[in-house]
Amino acid sequence: MSSSNLIEPVIYNCHTHIFTHKHIPDGYFPLFIVKLARNKVIRGVLNTVMQKIVPWTSNDRFQRCANFVSFAYKKGQEDNLKVLMNYYPKGTRFVVLPMDMAYMAAGKVMEDIDKQHQELVCLANREEYKNIIIPFAHIDPRRPAALERLAVLVEEQQFRGVKIYPPLGYYPCDPVLMHDIYPYMVKHKLPLIAHCSPGSVNTKHLPFEEAQGLADPKHYAAVMKKFPDLKICLSHFGGISEWQRYLTRDRSIDNPTWLEKILDMMRSGNYPNLYADVSYTVFNFQENITLLKVLLEDERVRTQVLFGSDFYMTSNERYPERRLSIDLRAALGETLFWQIANQNPKKFLAEAA
Ligand SMILES: [Zn+2]
Repeated sequence: MSSSNLIEPVIYNCHTHIFTHKHIPDGYFPLFIVKLARNKVIRGVLNTVMQKIVPWTSNDRFQRCANFVSFAYKKGQEDNLKVLMNYYPKGTRFVVLPMDMAYMAAGKVMEDIDKQHQELVCLANREEYKNIIIPFAHIDPRRPAALERLAVLVEEQQFRGVKIYPPLGYYPCDPVLMHDIYPYMVKHKLPLIAHCSPGSVNTKHLPFEEAQGLADPKHYAAVMKKFPDLKICLSHFGGISEWQRYLTRDRSIDNPTWLEKILDMMRSGNYPNLYADVSYTVFNFQENITLLKVLLEDERVRTQVLFGSDFYMTSNERYPERRLSIDLRAALGETLFWQIANQNPKKFLAEAA
């Protein structure tokens, strides 16, 4: 591909975040940490404490805390974008996914989703980021006038797709999504990126497991049957813990892993517009790269997997993000790497060839 014209194709990272603490609810972490950490001195102390705690624990919550404290308290989304861009070759394009966490019963957010979207679109319109940012709109079906809001974002501000996060408290087949949002997306050829891993930010309205279950891949069969033309990417390909369960534990027919549920749908041939991104999951590199490579041997899977990293949620992983795409490329080989980092994303995003 690259040998014919000497110009290397661009990498598409289909899953990144650059939002800041202003968009995280005050009660997201216990002990008012989100609020307290707005003070620089307290943030410094917290950082030191967290870094001491993190190596000794496998507790995901501490890892997430430390990650947010060090990364989320940037002045604005541009600061995070600059760090992200620095991890990748020049020209790499990033799907940026905002987060609307106002309805997860974790308190107030400093800046609502409208401001977050505005800040993002201002960046996306700047000359230096024009071909870098692919902005997605975060849609929470519980927010009033969801469809009207989406229409403005798409038709006036060139948002390119929709992000949903069901564990915040709704089903992928929520009536507003089914009756308003998905039909609009089909009409305007907008792809959907949906969080799909049991490791997630969960609404505090529901018991933990119930909230996690909202992201189960099984909910999407009905959506895809009703909207066969809607392109849907199930993020994280089921997630690290489900890949681990697949690799290491006995699997019962009654309790298939989320990875298997997604693979079954892909391999059935009934859902040609179903995609999955490897974001976050691929950061468990040593364990998961061989499985990924084997899965990509199947043509139906190979054409439906997207490269994504989940920046900056992964900033606390031992694997540095800059190294990830290099090691991934080396491990997969040129053909497979460009398939998931360029060809498939272009198809998913309906990018010009
Ligand atoms: Zn994410």
